[in-house]
Amino acid sequence: MRTSYHTHTFRCNHASGTEEEYVLRAIEAGVSKLGFSDHAPYPMEPGYCSGFRMKMTDTPGYVQTLLDLREKYRGKIEIYIGFEAEYYPKYFKGFLEFLDDFPYDYLLMGQHLLGNEIDEGARGSGAETDDEAVLKRYVDQVCEGLETGAFSCVAHPDIIHYIGPEDIYQKHMAVLCACAKRLSVPLEINGLGIRTNRFYPDKRLWPVMAQTGNDVVYGCDAHDVQNAWDEESYQKTLKIAEQYGLHLIEDLPLRRPVCPGKKG
Ligand SMILES: [Zn+2]
Ligand SMILES: [Zn+2]
Repeated sequence: MRTSYHTHTFRCNHASGTEEEYVLRAIEAGVSKLGFSDHAPYPMEPGYCSGFRMKMTDTPGYVQTLLDLREKYRGKIEIYIGFEAEYYPKYFKGFLEFLDDFPYDYLLMGQHLLGNEIDEGARGSGAETDDEAVLKRYVDQVCEGLETGAFSCVAHPDIIHYIGPEDIYQKHMAVLCACAKRLSVPLEINGLGIRTNRFYPDKRLWPVMAQTGNDVVYGCDAHDVQNAWDEESYQKTLKIAEQYGLHLIEDLPLRRPVCPGKKG
């Protein structure tokens, strides 16, 4: 069974293709469940506009389009409505409150930045570092985000680009894996990283995931219509899972975060 819960669209300003084009391509490829996880709108400081995510004003159109497509293609494919988002402690409450008005199904955590994108010069998780403190900080931030119970999966958990010793890498990533395991949050093997030869997925992580017994999920991370399904990176993921003894699952635990600030 082919499922994918990591799909972007033109709305995030760095991917192409409409929702319907992704749906049609996924049906053609034999995908049974397609989850959209475009980069989430994120209310931060007034007047600030993030360049790599959908605008807050785009959210109703995104959600309504997916609701319509869900009906239109019912029986051919199941469509889920999600968002990929960073955990930004400072803005997270406002973020959940904003999304609470929409009928979405799940959140992927994609911790592309440490801290948040406004403070500290927006340090990218993918910037090379041999500083153990940066690695630890990434792990702490991801775990703190998972503890909120808001997330259904960690996308590219290995997006932190630590180039120091393997034992130190694995020691800290074991903390992330244990946290995800305890909270039943699957970790992704990222198809975009595979097909574009990025530093992630990081093979140093695989034995740690196997040892911890994490649920692992394949994510296409489609940024163009053709890759609404990518058989090649999927097959590579199957091989990795087999070789390392990873517990590969097909479905995310769909969950909607409770929204502390709002009345039911
Ligand atoms: Zn993206
Ligand atoms: Zn993504």
